[in-house]
Amino acid sequence: MTACRICGGAMRPRFPRAADYITGDRFEVRECTICGAGRTLPAPADMAAYYPARYRHYNPLVAGILRVLYRRRVARWAGLFRTPGAVFEMGCGNGMMLHMLRRLGWTVMGSERSGEAVRIARETFGITVVEGGPDALDAQARFDLILLFQVLEHLDDPAAVLGKLAGRLAPGGRLIIGVPNFASWQAAFGGAGWFHLDVPRHLQHFTPVALARLLGEQGLRVTGISYDSPEHDPYGWVQSLLNRVDSRPNRLTRLLMRMDRPDAANLLHLALGCLAFVPAVALAVISWAARRGAIMEVTCVRDGANLGGETSGGKP
Ligand SMILES: [Zn+2]
Repeated sequence: MTACRICGGAMRPRFPRAADYITGDRFEVRECTICGAGRTLPAPADMAAYYPARYRHYNPLVAGILRVLYRRRVARWAGLFRTPGAVFEMGCGNGMMLHMLRRLGWTVMGSERSGEAVRIARETFGITVVEGGPDALDAQARFDLILLFQVLEHLDDPAAVLGKLAGRLAPGGRLIIGVPNFASWQAAFGGAGWFHLDVPRHLQHFTPVALARLLGEQGLRVTGISYDSPEHDPYGWVQSLLNRVDSRPNRLTRLLMRMDRPDAANLLHLALGCLAFVPAVALAVISWAARRGAIMEVTCVRDGANLGGETSGGKP
């Protein structure tokens, strides 16, 4: 029996046959009986087949809405600091959030895991991007803000990466992590068809308790958790609801990513998705207030860090 890599607790089967919506392959998700963390098994040796060319390439309307919402999130992060500093985003995608921070005066640096992704980020916004993770950075590089936005759940060994990132924080620096919440109402409702389960791309499934414990072991202390995520939470309700009544997983998402053509069945689901959106927003907002939202954003500092004496300042 596998033991939990975070707390050592026994793992029990949660979803024996969760399906990947891209390949149809099935994976098992096990859950820790102590901290509630989940793991996807087996972890594929080669992930290339599970990241198609269209992955996270949305149609222009969806991309535009996401851009507005991300700008709001980025402004909130920047507001944690009295003055702009240096930021590193691991897994920066096309570099959009770093581009927004640079416009606010920040010195920005990103990383991506493939040479092709690095090229896209450099060409899209002209961001400085290294290939790989924290090991690819200059030995002396330190950052006031480190971002791991929808990245940690994709990593095979999140503890090792968090330990390295902790060592990259400047005095008073903050690490901000956005991950799906395996203890959310949406996860419980969606079951194996929960939109943010996303096997096998998501190898880890974190609960607030599990993530705080993992961070603590790497010398990081959680200073705040927020759950409001207008970017990803209401949509997660819509797609998880549709997955409950449709045999084809993530049909709407495939349409929005332009993986499928807009035939009659797909357009029917688009209409159903639009109808479901208002109740989905209501559910999301209530779950945020109850601290059971589908996405959690965790802010942490180096343990022992004195927030009062930091160079870049910051509200508690
Ligand atoms: Zn555990």
